[in-house]
Amino acid sequence: MNTRRLIVLTIAASLLAPLAGCVTNAATGRRQFNSLSRAEEIQLGTEAAPQLAAEYGGPMGNASLQAYVRRVGMSMVPGVEGDYASLPWEFTLLDSDVINAFALPGGKVFITRGLAEKLDDEAELAGVLGHEIGHVTAEHADKRITSQMIVAGIAIGVSVATQDEDSEFLRVGVPALVGVGGQGFLLKFGRDEELQADGLGMRYMSRAGYDPSGQLDVMRVLAAASQGPRQPEWASTHPHPESRIKAIQQKLNNRYKDVHGERYQNRYHNEFLSRITH
Ligand SMILES: [Zn+2]
Repeated sequence: MNTRRLIVLTIAASLLAPLAGCVTNAATGRRQFNSLSRAEEIQLGTEAAPQLAAEYGGPMGNASLQAYVRRVGMSMVPGVEGDYASLPWEFTLLDSDVINAFALPGGKVFITRGLAEKLDDEAELAGVLGHEIGHVTAEHADKRITSQMIVAGIAIGVSVATQDEDSEFLRVGVPALVGVGGQGFLLKFGRDEELQADGLGMRYMSRAGYDPSGQLDVMRVLAAASQGPRQPEWASTHPHPESRIKAIQQKLNNRYKDVHGERYQNRYHNEFLSRITH
């Protein structure tokens, strides 16, 4: 059986899982059809994480740098909706010059050294991590998988026989889903999903006491990086920067008009940036 067919069939099999189905997402408030159960999302993320990390130089070895990123990420977890706080959240700094950040279903969040070095304070780091948390809580990857199934015209009937191929799905299917160089199916979202993740990110960072305008500065940093000869990889996994900047600015002018959180610029430079060695 070819990989694509295997993935499609196995995902179809999960449609039959009792925990999956049409639910109201606690973060977005929207009804959405989840083809993966919560346990499957976690399993998919856990299986895919090592391969994805390895493609970006693996986790940085410096424990204090990892602890810094983890602390900032975890500070936002109590502010997420519903029972998403109970996901096995992990925040990992990857040893790569590539400018990017991404998340896997189930709460695995990654930021590259290349992106972290472009940031100027902790609120901006919270902006990046909060955006990725938003992709997880809005279950965007699950939505992608579901729409892919609809496009592929899945017949539920054929899926029953594949129930015993779960481990095969994880062995063969996960590499295909994650893809090489961050171009994978699970890491690439559309305009609406990017705007939604920005909005959720601003909500989470402000709940944790960070200045939500950090999110706008992240976009400025990324826009500046895009001026160079090489487009940052971030640009392909996080498209539509113009509409994102506009939407973030609008939120700052309205909902967050009187919200002023912390930036922690000195701490970011002294305890994080200065300790990064190549
Ligand atoms: Zn995104």
